[in-house]
Amino acid sequence: MSKIEQTLSIIKPDAVERNLIENIKSIFIKNDLIIKQDKKIHITKEEAAEFYKIHQSKPFYDGLCSYLSSGPIVVMVLEGKNAVSSNRKLMGATDPKNAEEDTIRKLYGVSIDKNSVHGSDSIENAKKEINFFFKN
Ligand code: UDP
Ligand code: MG
Repeated sequence: MSKIEQTLSIIKPDAVERNLIENIKSIFIKNDLIIKQDKKIHITKEEAAEFYKIHQSKPFYDGLCSYLSSGPIVVMVLEGKNAVSSNRKLMGATDPKNAEEDTIRKLYGVSIDKNSVHGSDSIENAKKEINFFFKN
């Protein structure tokens, strides 16, 4: 069964810095994910800490928050059939070394921290994450 969902995608600082915004967006579009909303922003470390608070007990949390706030990012709402899992599949494994061929992280990721993209991992978290960046 497939249903229309929305998910949050972030193009992280390493990919924005390397001018990969259009390359990454074209992967979503080619795979039937519509970019419904889209903005380039530069968040503070405090905002990154709030966004990633699910990871607050992890050893990589502080570095992760510093990293996400280290430069401009692009936040997007993607919409399409099974958008949450479809986006996760297009992203590939967290560590680019383990990412499947043709995934965004395999193509563009540099390391486990500079892995080019974020994507919501569940419908529930997608709703929260979309609301975090696109409050009306
Ligand atoms: N991360 C890291 N070191 C680790 C694990 C994760 O720097 O050992 C970073 C990585 O950039 C990842 C983010 O923390 O994208 C969130 O981790 P998660 O396990 O949620 O991975 P994702 O959902 O992004 O694949
Ligand atoms: Mg995650």
